[in-house]
Amino acid sequence: MEDILQQYYGYETFREGQKELIEHVLNHQSALGILPTGGGKSICYQVPGIARGGLTLVISPLISLMKDQVDTLNAAGISAAYLNSQQKAAEVREIESVLKDGAYQFLYVAPERFEQTHFRYLLTQLDIRLIAFDEAHCISKWGHDFRPSYRQVVSRVMTIGAPCMAVTATATVDVRKDIQELLYINDHCVVETSVKRDNLDFKIDPTFQKDKMIRRYVKEHIKDSGIIYATTRKQVEALSEQFTTHHLNHTIYHAGLSSEVREQNQTAFVNDNSPVMIATNAFGMGIDKSNVRYVIHYNLPQDLESYYQEAGRAGRDGLQSECILLYNEQDIRLQQFFISQTPDEVIQERKKEKLEKMVQYTKTTQCLQGTLINYFNPEEHLEPCGRCTNCLMEAKYDMSVEAKKLMSCLIRIKIPVSRSILTKVIRGEQVSREMSQLSTFGLMKEYETKDIHGFIDTLLFNGYLDERDGKLHVHPSAKEVLISDVKIMTHYHPVSYNERVTIHTLV
Ligand code: ADP
Ligand code: ZN
Repeated sequence: MEDILQQYYGYETFREGQKELIEHVLNHQSALGILPTGGGKSICYQVPGIARGGLTLVISPLISLMKDQVDTLNAAGISAAYLNSQQKAAEVREIESVLKDGAYQFLYVAPERFEQTHFRYLLTQLDIRLIAFDEAHCISKWGHDFRPSYRQVVSRVMTIGAPCMAVTATATVDVRKDIQELLYINDHCVVETSVKRDNLDFKIDPTFQKDKMIRRYVKEHIKDSGIIYATTRKQVEALSEQFTTHHLNHTIYHAGLSSEVREQNQTAFVNDNSPVMIATNAFGMGIDKSNVRYVIHYNLPQDLESYYQEAGRAGRDGLQSECILLYNEQDIRLQQFFISQTPDEVIQERKKEKLEKMVQYTKTTQCLQGTLINYFNPEEHLEPCGRCTNCLMEAKYDMSVEAKKLMSCLIRIKIPVSRSILTKVIRGEQVSREMSQLSTFGLMKEYETKDIHGFIDTLLFNGYLDERDGKLHVHPSAKEVLISDVKIMTHYHPVSYNERVTIHTLV
């Protein structure tokens, strides 16, 4: 094993987890490796693939990923090829004939390939000695990026009789069990190294001025490369327009662009011609750009797996990088809407639970890094990182008085109103005659609109308020706040926006 590592890759020693995984498959046992992004998952199946001889079949969900891997292998003198839907018939025939001659050591394919009878027949003629599942979480129904075609492949390749090496960077306990069951992987063949990445600083900003914050951040980090993730294509386009207006060099990526444009934009980003990428989550898997200094999420992602995977594209070179999450109430509603579109009820429930965990991440007062790591591995206990928003913001703001004022104002208005109406009334802005006569009118006139929004958000997150159809309702649990001395703490500091940004960038 060490010889292969040295000869083909030029590395002296294996990284944590690699050797153990390789030994399992060399002993003809299927294995699952959960290693962090950049942890060297490819080597886990490539080294035993070379050692075992014959052909290693690599199932990979992404075409861009395949091409890079195959190029790298070929450059190292290892014969490899890939088959995908974008190749011409003649090229495919050529590859197939070389395959039958047994001249390839690695074949990369997308799961959809197995739907072709022709391809399945071809497989029976080949000497396959190892099967690798890259991005293995895509097999699992409980994974954040489930691909049904990926799951179907499993039954088809199990008949080959070769051991499997499944690798992924993100697997919760459920996903891990699911993969184990499907691929018959014993507990002792699961190797999990900490997914902790010490060079990532996690930040949360519940700002209502996302656009301004992002532009400011990008300007302040003009020399750095970064990714900005938004949920919808429309948001990507809108941000891009703003960036253009403000002369900020950037490029975009989403599924609505033609494949040529996507490839062109991706290349511009990877080659640092466009240092900033504004994209939907369609962008990123398999992209190996090491110097990404920040990943900003414009919206709340659907779950922590997606978040960690996307945020984890920062700092692959090991240098300190920032992962910033911006969010507001609307984001939660948008994700809830997406979930409601899921046909399978069981999956819908799981997704709801996962979204709940994602939301909790935004309101926890614990170390953010620790919260993330514990989500993946509840047994791993960590010291506070000292660099995330929560670790840095020890002095939290006691908003108990503001909470009482806001909720009693809402109760006095008597009818459910939107947050902007409530904000106006409590700041003393004219809405209607009745409202101007309330005793709570103008009760918080010294606060800025966004401060009030920040407080309302905390009250929503703590469950004291509900927001339905854009209207605020006081939750029965709010009583305890109104009549007793329950303390409500928030990370939201009611100071002007600019000062807040300065705090962020200074830390
Ligand atoms: P990922 O786990 O994200 O798929 P890769 O397999 O792409 O990671 O590996 C990330 C980088 O780490 C690659 O440049 C790879 O060559 C390098 N690498 C992998 N294993 C080792 C090792 N044992 N020693 C040194 N570098 C390694
Ligand atoms: Zn921390």
